Amino acid sequence: MGRTIKTKGIIVGEAPMGEQDKRLVILCEDKGRLSAVAKGAKKPGARLASQAQLFYYCDMMLEESRGFWYLREASVIESFYDLRKDLTGLAWASWMVETAGILAVEGQESARMIRLLLRGLKMIEEPLLSPKTTAVTFILRALSEQGLQPEDSRCVECGKPLPKEAYISPAAGGLLCEDCVRRARDGMRLSEGSLYTLRHILHAQESVLYKYQASTEIQQELFRFTRFYLHIYAQKEMSSLEFLRNLGEIPAER
Ligand SMILES: [Zn+2]
Repeated sequence: MGRTIKTKGIIVGEAPMGEQDKRLVILCEDKGRLSAVAKGAKKPGARLASQAQLFYYCDMMLEESRGFWYLREASVIESFYDLRKDLTGLAWASWMVETAGILAVEGQESARMIRLLLRGLKMIEEPLLSPKTTAVTFILRALSEQGLQPEDSRCVECGKPLPKEAYISPAAGGLLCEDCVRRARDGMRLSEGSLYTLRHILHAQESVLYKYQASTEIQQELFRFTRFYLHIYAQKEMSSLEFLRNLGEIPAER
């Protein structure tokens, strides 16, 4: 028997592996992102079949054997069962967990990230904001939590303080002022309301993080911003975005 650990963790990715097993991506409190095999998890009635599920937050026992981790036992703390009742909410929640799996680092303590994710998923179940805005809020804050937050006070090109509006430039990798965007050509305007909301999301106390309102225009601008900005770190096509496209929640790729 190999090394075993007990930890709390949330399943942020799952894929079938052969006829009976699943390969999971787990965000663990003390080990960060970890890939683990759940033996027999696809077999109806098997011990792990009802626990090794996407979104499930569990007390887990994991064992390392010959360089691979195996989920041996799990006891469910929170299943987010209601997420499955609404396809739109489910799709946006999928984007959140896939992002958490990308941003989490192997071996890095992740209790804060897990707490943020649990709260975000709860917000999708009990919507005060639209699922899209909840997902955007979680992702921007998670980037910030990992030290990857966008610079929101100064132009990334010239360093001047940003006035009330700014421009997103994928080529420059952040926000530009009006002078610099003329040379960038790919700038997309971020309105005063969006910039204000972005700053709220990045800096507000966690207890009031989701307590804001945003117009449709702001929601749309912040979604585009988040998607572009996240892509710098994701560096791959995310399957959850495909899910959202298929539902018509986001436009098809040009
Ligand atoms: Zn500038």
